[in-house]
Amino acid sequence: MPYYYDVIVVGAGAAGLLAAGRAAECGAKVLLLEKMNRPGRKLTITGNGRCNVTNTAQLGEFIKHIGPDSKFVRPSFSKFFSKDIVNLLEKNGVPTVVEDDEFVFTKSCKAIDVVNALVKWNKESGVEIICNSNITDIIKKDNCVEYVVTETNVKYYSKTIIVTCGGASYPATGSSGDGYKWFKSLGHKVTPIRPALVPLETKGNTAQQLQGLSLSKTKIIVWVDGKKKIERVGDMLFTHFGITGPLVHSLSRHIIEDLQKGKNIVFAFDLLSDIPESEIDSYLLKQISIHGKKLFSNFISLYLPPKLIPVCFNATGILPDKICNLISANERKKLRLWLKEFKIEISGSRSFAEAMVTSGGVSLDEVDSKTMQSKIIENLFIAGEILDLDADTGGYNLQIAFSTGYVAGESAAKYSLGKKYLSL
Ligand SMILES: Cc1cc2nc3c(=O)[nH]c(=O)nc-3n(C[C@H](O)[C@H](O)[C@H](O)COP(=O)(O)OP(=O)(O)OC[C@H]3O[C@@H](n4cnc5c(N)ncnc54)[C@H](O)[C@@H]3O)c2cc1C
Repeated sequence: MPYYYDVIVVGAGAAGLLAAGRAAECGAKVLLLEKMNRPGRKLTITGNGRCNVTNTAQLGEFIKHIGPDSKFVRPSFSKFFSKDIVNLLEKNGVPTVVEDDEFVFTKSCKAIDVVNALVKWNKESGVEIICNSNITDIIKKDNCVEYVVTETNVKYYSKTIIVTCGGASYPATGSSGDGYKWFKSLGHKVTPIRPALVPLETKGNTAQQLQGLSLSKTKIIVWVDGKKKIERVGDMLFTHFGITGPLVHSLSRHIIEDLQKGKNIVFAFDLLSDIPESEIDSYLLKQISIHGKKLFSNFISLYLPPKLIPVCFNATGILPDKICNLISANERKKLRLWLKEFKIEISGSRSFAEAMVTSGGVSLDEVDSKTMQSKIIENLFIAGEILDLDADTGGYNLQIAFSTGYVAGESAAKYSLGKKYLSL
């Protein structure tokens, strides 16, 4: 006996919970299917367990953090944006706070509260949620999707289907890239996927020497095949394999393709970013003369964390027991260059298992940005990370999932309740 719904949503992550809740609010009979034993597994680990829900940036600034086609999200952001998710959570008992004037976190510091609130909203709106339901295929008839099949061969029929099964990153949370093959077989173009917001592996043993050292508000300049590509300021950490942390994750989005093409990638750390390039020589000269009688090792410890000091000796060749007054102009130049551009070559990235998001996915050309409706199959809707969209760290990725999910839910409900909603 098949089951009939107005809207079936596949995947109860950030996008799926918004899609299902909104579709039900619009009056549709909604089924939300989740592979794992509970909804929102990935959501519970976001923002180090505190969930960086969104970002307070205005639309124009917000979309600068999104690629490859940031224009795509404008219509969904204009329907459901940062203040809307904040209000929805607040209404369902989860107040938020803003940190550093932009990052919105749960006030309770508990990402699980976001999941519980969204599940509560779904249930109160009338959504039926079935967990432990691993969808293995989406079946099409006469150019319309008709039903989904679970691995135990249960078939759920629906007037519309919304796919929100996420990307291929952090597969342990349930998003193991299942959707890409469905979309390919349904006739959609899927752009190549790559890990994004991912830790990076480095050449040599410098990172190992520095393992455990974190640098905050540090500036990194990225060089690709000898050309400056991007520079950013933020927090990072050295690990046994290389580098990680929010700054590294954000920069990784911009170089993974170059890495895969075999280009030479160098991260140059500006360890004295407060001092402009033009003033660094006179600054060092002055500091060295003030501390002229100190040993170089004591002098440099005023500026660098202990783990970086041996790396500095090695790179500059200045002996630790050299008296500062005896440092030559050439040595000072080496020190200046090293402090402004301490370089580490990137050898690779960690895998999808450690990537916060997936870049690439269902091609945006074939999805209506106003409705999230497929341009290939009329009663199919798509939202969240499965789309060829990804963003920097800072709450941007969740907002993409929330906004596109909300719009997909509303459009699918309208479609299934009689108003065809394709805005072609
Ligand atoms: C460690 C970590 C921290 C992060 N922190 C932040 C943050 O603080 N702020 C931010 O903006 N972004 C953050 N992100 C990114 C953010 O979590 C994702 O962009 C977002 O969750 C994507 O939402 P989604 O609904 O598209 O996919 P997901 O949240 O991955 O949800 C997809 C759901 O579909 C289910 N599913 C998959 N396949 C099937 C199937 N075959 N059948 C049924 N169900 C299926 C999955 O089990 C999953 O529940 C973080 C990511 C990670 C990994």
